[in-house]
Amino acid sequence: MTSNEALFERAQRSIPGGVNSPVRAFRSVGGTPRFVARAQGPYFWDAEGVRYIDYIGSWGPMILGHVHPEVLEAVQRVLADGFSFGAPTEAEIEIAEEIRKLVPSIDQVRLVSSGTEATMSALRLARGFTKRERIVKFEGCYHGHADSLLVKAGSGLLTFGNPTSAGVPPDIAKHTSVLEYNKTEALETAFAAFGDEIAAVIVEPVAGNMNLVRGNPDFLQALRRLCTHHGAVLIFDEVMCGFRVALGGAQALYGIEPDLTCLGKVIGGGMPAAAFGGRRDIMAHLAPEGAVYQAGTLSGNPIAVAAGLKTLQLIQAPGFYERLGEQTAKLASGLAVVARAAGVTFSADAVGGMFGIYFTDEVPASFADVSRSDIPCFNAFFHKMLDAGVYFAPSAYEAGFVSIAHDDAVIDATLDAARSAFAALAA
Ligand SMILES: *Cc1c(COP(=O)(O)O)cnc(C)c1O
Repeated sequence: MTSNEALFERAQRSIPGGVNSPVRAFRSVGGTPRFVARAQGPYFWDAEGVRYIDYIGSWGPMILGHVHPEVLEAVQRVLADGFSFGAPTEAEIEIAEEIRKLVPSIDQVRLVSSGTEATMSALRLARGFTKRERIVKFEGCYHGHADSLLVKAGSGLLTFGNPTSAGVPPDIAKHTSVLEYNKTEALETAFAAFGDEIAAVIVEPVAGNMNLVRGNPDFLQALRRLCTHHGAVLIFDEVMCGFRVALGGAQALYGIEPDLTCLGKVIGGGMPAAAFGGRRDIMAHLAPEGAVYQAGTLSGNPIAVAAGLKTLQLIQAPGFYERLGEQTAKLASGLAVVARAAGVTFSADAVGGMFGIYFTDEVPASFADVSRSDIPCFNAFFHKMLDAGVYFAPSAYEAGFVSIAHDDAVIDATLDAARSAFAALAA
């Protein structure tokens, strides 16, 4: 049997950093990444045959647990009919209809293959529709890795953003303004200063890429009101929270209709599928109807659509979200109780099937709050849990995910492991 360590060494010779997406490399927690051999339900097994309770679920998509038999069957059924056509299929209409039914703010939807493509395309569409250039985003929200979105607030200047990645031209970053999440006052100041230049505001209504941080309802309402008043397109990036925090996404939870919505993760059921959609008058600007170009060789891929459509059907089972929410809340509150008993500074939160664990005394409301976490303590906890067969996200800045396959026995086993881990931390 190959060891994770041998695989990691070998991987680094052919793949930059040994991984195909940075967080997988364990850089922030240290140690050797686990190379996954297979998965089933709430578990995966690494190359050494060790089983882990999985709390990342491919960063959200595996809401039904791994290899759900009905999703497997749906994929197997279409496989023999062809892998990709580059021509339309009936299944694409079915998934579009399903998305419209579940997310009523979406009149029309275009399928793409990744969340990055969805947000990048939504921004271009918003710019084409409004004939404006400025984008507003919020610190700590992640919207994929398009140039316009790898931007942080510039020092002193409210208006011009700076790149967060090498290779992003400052001339592109300067069109993006970055504001503090959940700070309504900063939002009002920005709109008063340059509201009529703003093409779009993009936001994670429940943020999951700075750990879990809930959008404040007043903040999101103010955002809706200001966008409407100034003619800016409001984009909810629900790539992570869509079909995760509620069947209708965060917009159903808050009762706020965005103009455009980006979807991904759950809508592919673990396959590469994502989407953006919204108001018909905006979507009409998209090629071939309109002048905003957007395309994709593998968009609406039949295998990905089969997995996604079956997943969307199964999450509509009666009681699904009640059960998912209960299990996730049980985990989060259970961890907080165990930590408190051990005297460790800790808090936890859960929304639907997403949770956050924080080494802070209060649940954070912004990126600055999350930044006050005790990172060495998180890293020690992460490794103790990993050694006990529990796989949490390998970074204090990531959310966690529970699937419907995480039953009471799985949650209880996690809490038992956590009891020992917290006790060891406190010692
Ligand atoms: C994951 C994620 C993306 C990017 O999706 P990819 O499929 O990784 O390109 C965009 N926005 C949010 C909110 C995400 O969580």
